[in-house]
Amino acid sequence: MRVLVVEDDESLRSQLSDALSKSGYAVDGTGNGESAEIYGNQFPYDAVILDLGLPGKPGLDVLRAWRKRGNTTPVIVLTARGQWHEKVDGFDAGADDYLSKPFYMKELIARMGALIRRSQGRTQGPLAVEGVELDEETQQVTVNGTVHRLTGVEFRLLRALMLNRGRVLSKERLEEHVYDLDAERGSNVIEVYIKRLRDKVGKEMIQTRRGQGYVFGGQ
Ligand code: CA
Repeated sequence: MRVLVVEDDESLRSQLSDALSKSGYAVDGTGNGESAEIYGNQFPYDAVILDLGLPGKPGLDVLRAWRKRGNTTPVIVLTARGQWHEKVDGFDAGADDYLSKPFYMKELIARMGALIRRSQGRTQGPLAVEGVELDEETQQVTVNGTVHRLTGVEFRLLRALMLNRGRVLSKERLEEHVYDLDAERGSNVIEVYIKRLRDKVGKEMIQTRRGQGYVFGGQ
């Protein structure tokens, strides 16, 4: 899953990015409202963390612009402590949740996870498809009772596949879920990781559709 962190306080932005990367998200970051709007229009984020006071364009205007275009990505706004009207304005502009600064990273990550699950119509608990169970907390996969550890990229790739079970995901689409803008990409990297995942979850669980991409689920 891929998230966007919009925060002009560089130290807070890097703390957020670090914490989210450790939780298994691919993370893009920016401190400017105008570039945030462009990123949000361009990439399929699973969630956005949006500060309101930003250079370039205010966070509320960025959010309104996204919603006007029909972009329904879950957004958590970061508000200044005691500024209750910011919360109201944030919800009016289309925010899904808010956190007042300062906040605990753990709370932010928990709320973001809940928001993403809700937007995908899921409830709490491991992601399970046909005997394959992915634990998003520990980033381990259990296949017929055997636990396998996953690297960060393997975890993000498997999560994207499992969330889209039965649907064909192109290599490009998978890359968007797995990498952030800073990551180095190679042309056959996805293939290499697919092979590693097949060794863990079973070859039949990830099918290749030639010229189209990959589908999760045996059927
Ligand atoms: Ca700010």
